[in-house]
Amino acid sequence: MTDPSTSETVPFIVAVDGPAGSGKSSVSKAVARRLGYGFLDTGAAYRALAWHVLDRGDDTADEAAVLAAAADFPFRQGLDPDDRVVHVGDVDVTAAIREPRVSGAVSGVARVPAVRVQVNDAFRRIVRESAYPAVVVEGRDITTVVAPDAPVRILLTAAPEVRAARRAAELGAEDAGAVAAALHSRDAKDSAVVDFLTAAEGVEVVDSTDLDFDQTIDAVIAVIERRQGMNA
Ligand code: C5P
Repeated sequence: MTDPSTSETVPFIVAVDGPAGSGKSSVSKAVARRLGYGFLDTGAAYRALAWHVLDRGDDTADEAAVLAAAADFPFRQGLDPDDRVVHVGDVDVTAAIREPRVSGAVSGVARVPAVRVQVNDAFRRIVRESAYPAVVVEGRDITTVVAPDAPVRILLTAAPEVRAARRAAELGAEDAGAVAAALHSRDAKDSAVVDFLTAAEGVEVVDSTDLDFDQTIDAVIAVIERRQGMNA
């Protein structure tokens, strides 16, 4: 695509929003892989910042501590769907940011407006500077805030009980009830900041409740191809 303000070629954006457990991360990654696109998991940046706050010995409920950590946040993340290493400074935090202690703390950083502005700017820059022809950008507010003009905007949803069961299976958790409770509590906190359960105007809903993984990938690719046809 060409940016009309600068005439530069910028990657085509496929924006995918959705709640935890909707499959948006694994589906978006698989779609990117299949189409040769880049993949940006925006939740990883919020998670890495939550990890950074905890690593500094602070609490993400303390907004001043979150802002201080955000002001000194040497975060690096690539767009290769097969190499999703995340660094804070020299520390590889790829695995640590998935730990329950980070999942439990992440809403604390995501609710701070100045943090959202900072990371959203970083996301737009990462995409703009990328060499990929297109990038699948996945998160909670991508279709509405980060890339509201993206040519393809999708809200991936699934029924709450299906999302909880998938997340429990992903974590290999024995206590599915506890996983469901943690997921619903995070959804409730997150939805106070971003409405990721309702599709904004022009956003296509893909409901994966009755679809398996491959069928969900196909459904998303079908939307991309249809939209590309409309934009051609
Ligand atoms: O998608 P993931 O579960 O990794 O996201 C972790 C957290 O990051 C979410 O619970 C939410 O608090 C925050 N987030 C956000 N906006 C995004 C992506 C993630 O607020 N675009």
